[in-house]
Amino acid sequence: MERLIDFSRDRHMLCGSCGQRFLVDLDWIHRWEQGQEKCPGCALTCEHEDAPRVIVDPADPALDDDLVARLSWYHTSTHPNWPPKNFDPAASLTAETRQLMGGDRQVADWATRQKRKALHVGTYEAAIHNMLRRIDDQADHGSQFYLYRVRLEPTVTVRTDWIIDPSNFVGDVMLDEVCPPGIDVVRYLNYHEDPGGISLALGKDAIAGVQRVAIPLADTWDESWVRNAVAALKNATANVAPATGKLSRFRRPSSPRVVASHEPEALRELCADLARRLPANLQNQFTSATAFAEGDHPVRWARRTSGLFKLIEDPGRVLATLDTADRRNV
Ligand SMILES: [Zn+2]
Repeated sequence: MERLIDFSRDRHMLCGSCGQRFLVDLDWIHRWEQGQEKCPGCALTCEHEDAPRVIVDPADPALDDDLVARLSWYHTSTHPNWPPKNFDPAASLTAETRQLMGGDRQVADWATRQKRKALHVGTYEAAIHNMLRRIDDQADHGSQFYLYRVRLEPTVTVRTDWIIDPSNFVGDVMLDEVCPPGIDVVRYLNYHEDPGGISLALGKDAIAGVQRVAIPLADTWDESWVRNAVAALKNATANVAPATGKLSRFRRPSSPRVVASHEPEALRELCADLARRLPANLQNQFTSATAFAEGDHPVRWARRTSGLFKLIEDPGRVLATLDTADRRNV
């Protein structure tokens, strides 16, 4: 069962100080984060500890215990076979690393802890947002991503109610800390991706099967945008580095923002046009994640950028492609 996908939907807010609940759009949240909006009940601004925060939509079908296992859930990963079978976190450690970690006993303890980590699934919007965050972290700038549609086992036991996003500072959740014995799945309020949406922390056994597509989808880019972007890059290359023809000016240093400021004006304008058509909470992340980096192939970069945009602009096409994908039992 699919939910309506709407990256721009209004969000519910709850004030921790005065208890006021209210509905806002993403532009309001954006202004709020800059200290330009106040709680309509008590006029607190975002700096206060008890200030309003995004809260679940009371009409979210994921709050219905009986629907959780019937809904489609999503996950993005660079792993081509997620969730991995017979996951052995220690398998890729070298002898030297094992020694540095203190020996076999410590490695075994560490591996056990890794295996206790929960898997995460969420809305389509959260999965795409998560991918942008990961690309933005740069380690995955050039990685192939996959979108997984996840079907849960119909017999899973879902923990009552929902909890606040339990991730620690590196995003890990230990399954047994959020799922007491006999519970397979816990719902949590996602603050970071698709804010206000419900995500699930769960173990692999709760997953019945997955379908997968490589993203961005092939052939979904906007050909005219790609042509213009490639032309802008080529012009800049000709003007900037005629001797070598290399795009060394577009070096990707520590901050992608710096790169953005080095992009030729025409390209920056094209990218800004794309970003402006996105919901306010994705614009910076998208711009940063898609910044042209040294070594990027201009045509491939432009197609990927346009294709990533389409994942947000036209989710229907992605779902239709997923519908034709084989289902793999987990
Ligand atoms: Zn208030």
